[in-house]
Amino acid sequence: MSELSTHVVIAGGGIGGAATALALARAGARVTLFERAPEFGEVGAGLQIGPHGSRILESWGLLDEVLASGVQPDNLVFRDAITAETLTTVDLGPRFREHYGGPYFVTHRSDLHAALVGAARQAGVELFTGRTVVDIVTDGPRAIVTTDDGATCEADVAVAMDGLKSRLRAKVSPDDPVASGYVAYRGAFPRDEVGLDVDLHDVVGYIGPRCHFIQYPLRGGTMLNQVAVFESPGYRAGEQDWGHPEELDAAFAHCHERVREGVRHLWRDRWWPMYDREPVENWIDGRMILLGDAAHPPLQYLASGAVMALEDATCLAGYARAGASGGIPDWSQILKQVNAERAPRCNRVITTGRMWGELWHLDGTARLARNELFRVRDTESWKYTDWLWGYSCAGS
Ligand SMILES: Cc1cc2nc3c(=O)[nH]c(=O)nc-3n(C[C@H](O)[C@H](O)[C@H](O)COP(=O)(O)OP(=O)(O)OC[C@H]3O[C@@H](n4cnc5c(N)ncnc54)[C@H](O)[C@@H]3O)c2cc1C
Repeated sequence: MSELSTHVVIAGGGIGGAATALALARAGARVTLFERAPEFGEVGAGLQIGPHGSRILESWGLLDEVLASGVQPDNLVFRDAITAETLTTVDLGPRFREHYGGPYFVTHRSDLHAALVGAARQAGVELFTGRTVVDIVTDGPRAIVTTDDGATCEADVAVAMDGLKSRLRAKVSPDDPVASGYVAYRGAFPRDEVGLDVDLHDVVGYIGPRCHFIQYPLRGGTMLNQVAVFESPGYRAGEQDWGHPEELDAAFAHCHERVREGVRHLWRDRWWPMYDREPVENWIDGRMILLGDAAHPPLQYLASGAVMALEDATCLAGYARAGASGGIPDWSQILKQVNAERAPRCNRVITTGRMWGELWHLDGTARLARNELFRVRDTESWKYTDWLWGYSCAGS
């Protein structure tokens, strides 16, 4: 007998959609998920998950599985990209784990995604690939979901988790993604293949003028994951198609040798121009709610976009459980509660992410002042991170 007597359709099977499907199915809902891609999958790069995410994975019984293929780094280390001087560190050891109630870890995206999809499948979610959701309309208490094969599916509620370029977001807001002018290059390679002499116990971020470079281990330290981000001259010049590989080496030419060496080991056949969206307060259109990147895509500087989607999932399932009378959820009330709880939090991640990027990318005197602030930071204090890593959703 289902705990929740309800049917939910989810559009999008990324980390957010898979997590939401799992959380709702575990709460007893019947869940149908449509993914546009022919197969479930994720780009083969790394992901950092702070304790705000690991506590949720623990509550779903998935933390041990993802930790088994991941790495728990010793520290987050911030270095100046030009001098390679260590400016400040965050110790991720026992005191950190006790304070935040969970570990900080890094994982291969596909490992986390596969764990979520596998658990969702086991929980009975109806999973469809190769089906694009083209529309969701509300008819009284029903959400009518149309897919690109012309089929319609009726449910009590629909969750749109179709990512940064969400087509379903147009139902609540006419805005477009906002280009940051920065572009990311990634690379994840077997450590032996790369042959770089890097310390693979930490997440290391080199921050510099208009650029930064991140290194961390994956898969028990057998792989090196790297991300290089820089302001694209092509974007500044108004080019339509910006961020090409020719820009990459020049962007890091002024950086320390360790950074330049690392930059040689990135994929050059694909790159990710960085976009976010202006924060919006309302994510609801009748019986549909936007969540994950569709609702609140941040720039990646706080390493929390995927975790926001995990938080959305646990929050929605928590309010659905609490708002069900005799197993029947009052969806219009529940969607309002989730929107009210999540929008201030996720919008803060967007706006703080933008500021954090500005701070990392400073040049000249401002860079020197930033470095001094980082050097004198009280490394025993949590005052800058409690809001991010200490949060638990009221409804979960
Ligand atoms: C360089 C980089 C580094 C990052 N690092 C981190 C990090 O360290 N930690 C962190 O927490 N976050 C990080 N993020 C952010 C994180 O990747 C995203 O926030 C997260 O993946 C969003 O998940 P989502 O499921 O909401 O959206 P997506 O991952 O975009 O998934 C959307 C899914 O919907 C499908 N889809 C799209 N349209 C339709 C449709 N109409 N019908 C059906 N399916 C559809 C897509 O195929 C896709 O599978 C990073 C992002 C970038 C770019």
